[in-house]
Amino acid sequence: MAESSQKKILFIDDDKFLLDMYALKFTKAGYDVKTADSTDVALKMVRDGYTPDILLSDIVMPGMDGLDLVAALRKEKLIPAAVVVMLTNQGASEDISRAQKMGVDGYIVKATTVPSEVLAEVEKIAKSKKT
Ligand SMILES: [Mg+2]
Repeated sequence: MAESSQKKILFIDDDKFLLDMYALKFTKAGYDVKTADSTDVALKMVRDGYTPDILLSDIVMPGMDGLDLVAALRKEKLIPAAVVVMLTNQGASEDISRAQKMGVDGYIVKATTVPSEVLAEVEKIAKSKKT
C-alpha cells in the first residue's frame, strides 16, 4: 500500500496494553497508526494539525473522558470528516446512550472484542459512513 493512501488512525486509551495490542494489529493491516494514552495528549495532537481519518477512543479515562474529547473536537470544528468510534465497557449503557446521542459513527464493546474483531468492526463502521 502506498504511503499516501494509508488510512490514518488515532487510538486513545489509558490502558497501555490495549493501545499496543490494537496499534500492532492495525499497523499490520496497513494503517498509519498513532496512539495517545490520554485525551489531553490526543487533543493536543489534533490541535497541532494531525488529521486522522479514524478516531478510535476509549470512554472511561482519567481527566476528560472520550466523549468529552469528541465534544471538544466538535466545538473547535477539528477533524469533522473523521470516523469516530468509541470503545465502551460491557454493560455501560449510560456511556452507550451518551455516544448515540452525540451521533458518533459507532461503538465497540471492549470486553467482547479481540483485536481482529475490533479491526473488522472499525472497517465496517468506516465503510458504512462513506456510503
Ligand atoms: Mg479506560
